[in-house]
Amino acid sequence: MYSDRSDITVQSEGKPAIERGLFDAIPDAIYLIDPVTSNILDCNLHAYEDLYLTREQVLNHSVLSLQMDVRGLPAWTEIADVIRQNRVYRFQGHHRRADGSSLPVEVNTEAVVYQGREWFISVARDISKRHSGSLNGQDWSVLYDLADGVWDWHVSDDSLYFSPNLKRFLGYGPDEMEPVLSTWKDNVHPDDLPIVFGALEEHLTGRRSQFVATYRLRNRNGFYLWVEDHGVVTDFLPSGEPARVVGFINDVTDYKTIEVTLQKEAERDSLTGLFNRRRGMELLIETFNKTVKRQPNAKVELSLLVIDLDFFKRINDRYGHLEGDEVLRITGSLILKSLPDDAVAFRWGGEEFLVALPGTALAEARERAENIRQAFVNQEWQPGIEGECVTVSIGIAHYPEEATHLLELIAAADKAVYLAKRLGRNRVESHI
Ligand code: GH3
Ligand code: MG
Ligand code: MG
Repeated sequence: MYSDRSDITVQSEGKPAIERGLFDAIPDAIYLIDPVTSNILDCNLHAYEDLYLTREQVLNHSVLSLQMDVRGLPAWTEIADVIRQNRVYRFQGHHRRADGSSLPVEVNTEAVVYQGREWFISVARDISKRHSGSLNGQDWSVLYDLADGVWDWHVSDDSLYFSPNLKRFLGYGPDEMEPVLSTWKDNVHPDDLPIVFGALEEHLTGRRSQFVATYRLRNRNGFYLWVEDHGVVTDFLPSGEPARVVGFINDVTDYKTIEVTLQKEAERDSLTGLFNRRRGMELLIETFNKTVKRQPNAKVELSLLVIDLDFFKRINDRYGHLEGDEVLRITGSLILKSLPDDAVAFRWGGEEFLVALPGTALAEARERAENIRQAFVNQEWQPGIEGECVTVSIGIAHYPEEATHLLELIAAADKAVYLAKRLGRNRVESHI
């Protein structure tokens, strides 16, 4: 995100534009950077003198060459995107001096548009004199009010200290939770580990200004709580590697539980409990693509069923819409009951349902469809609904014989269900 800064040359009336002498007098290092190449196009005196370099040694060199912290350099385009996404992108790191020593700096970078072109402007401030003491008992207590827990990780020996309130939050006593990284890692939900460690790596390598992750953390009772975790590298080794990371976590279980529930609801059809059309189609596309990709040892085939209630309009007309809804609810459960775990079933439209059976031969699909059809015949319907009214017609299509694309396959199953209707309903049909 950037703004068009036409004021950048400071040329308002009566005042001088910032000329070299004044520019060099600015006590921070200032760099004008080419967003495409990462090269430094201009800079002031502090930008090279503080690093014991000459102006020539800095100009037209990549700004990344000044960095000590960014190990295993991510592509510049990736860093440039992060800068654009932040109004002001700030990080603390180390610049390399000509003699090999490091200068701790806080760097603020902004993307600006000037004269129709994009530029990055970085200001690096020497922070070597800033206090960087370690947390003592008093500091912890200040943070109690701000967070549900505070942690302090010493990277070199993998020791990880947990604040007393963090232990309490997870249900542990003051002498429990061994202060090592694995204590934490072993309690992060296995599904969340890639997200958590991905975010940590991004921060440790300088791609993100903070470590931020929302994940599930197990408490003493084995119950997973949702937490939001923030951390930042506070100390570096002389080599530029992160030495210490401090962070805090907050309990977000309540919000997250609501979010997960809402998300689930948004995927389901409220009447039948099956996936709704939007989510169903997403899952169907995923399943189809996986099938087509051809797994080793797995047969490349997929059967698709279109299930349509027979004379459903008549049920509504005779017994009313509420009774019709009840039939749809039962329909959902009868379909689900007859399907294997890897099947994808969803409400495609009013009284039409789609079922995908990955890796299923036509003969087996026919058998499953027949079971579904029979389940409707056998169902004891509520008093008031005549059994013979609630039947289904099922059309089957099979991949790869009948289609190369998913839409073609759906069309084939749809045609098959019309055949079943024409031949008298309460039947299973296919065109092969
Ligand atoms: P066919 O055997 O040819 O499929 O006949 P049909 O009556 O089942 O088919 P048609 O497409 O003519 O009618 C479908 C009916 O399904 C019309 C519509 O009112 C009803 N319907 C669709 N969605 C719902 C719903 O959510 N609740 C209720 N009660 N009825 C619905
Ligand atoms: Mg229909
Ligand atoms: Mg119908």
